[in-house]
Amino acid sequence: MSLWLPLPAYARQNFDNVEIHVLPVQGNVYMLVGAGGNITVQAGDQGVLFVDTQFAPLSDKILAAVRKLSNRPIRYIINTHYHLDHTGGNESIANAGMTPNVGPGANLQRPTATIIAHDNVLNRMSAPTGVQPPRPAGAWPTDTYVSGQKELFFNDEGIEVIHVPAAHTDGDSIVYFRRSDVVSTGDVFNTTSFPYFDTGAGGSINGVIDALNRIIQIAIPKHEQEGGTYIIPGHGRLCDEADIVEYRDMTTIIRDRVQAMIKKGMTLDQVQAARPTKEYDRRYGATTGPRTTDMFVEAVYRSLSAKK
Ligand SMILES: [Zn+2]
Repeated sequence: MSLWLPLPAYARQNFDNVEIHVLPVQGNVYMLVGAGGNITVQAGDQGVLFVDTQFAPLSDKILAAVRKLSNRPIRYIINTHYHLDHTGGNESIANAGMTPNVGPGANLQRPTATIIAHDNVLNRMSAPTGVQPPRPAGAWPTDTYVSGQKELFFNDEGIEVIHVPAAHTDGDSIVYFRRSDVVSTGDVFNTTSFPYFDTGAGGSINGVIDALNRIIQIAIPKHEQEGGTYIIPGHGRLCDEADIVEYRDMTTIIRDRVQAMIKKGMTLDQVQAARPTKEYDRRYGATTGPRTTDMFVEAVYRSLSAKK
């Protein structure tokens, strides 16, 4: 979910009492819950891989928790998107790691972990020469991809970093651990609120639905029981395919309702008054706070009304 609010809201947040909870998911994969977006960790003989890094003030606690899982070097960080609640710890966690075998020399190594992300994550963290960038260079991705997907093989399993276009932002990746059978979704999926898509950063409601469908395509449930593919959402609890199917259906129903109302020529006020989210409000809605149901309906309305 992440930031409706600009940076100062986070500057006021106190992390002293935040604890990092580690949940073994399946195979080599763990879910770390603290403050901000969920972290996924994959650990094995070759080292440690992170998906997202929460906030910088939590890095010491996160590293201490990961050291109980593995003493091997931190080799990779994959960012699902650029928001600070998912990338705030990039620099400190990358600095705790290393990248072996870089360059033509046999034993050359880079003294930081490799940060992988879609190219638009780098674009949103950096700036042209001479302009103050939004984020320090040490937090930037060092290995980006432009479209489709990026693949790596690490700790005996294939890992797919898959771009889902124009969804929560314009630089979203979902990460599929093929052998462990776990998908880390970033903020295209969460269990705590209606979908949030950052329209100021290229997000869209239809992109979110496409991303949810892509995850459903990957996931295979275990017949008539819990298990099969596990899904780690951007925020909220560990899920399986049935959870994400339900969320996709809800999102699609609301999208279709708002689309039909726009077709009838209804204004935003009229659409909000018609409550297209009504049977879902108790579970996902909010009337106060940084992200209200009215704001969600407005974002859907504007996303569907936007000229292509
Ligand atoms: Zn986010």
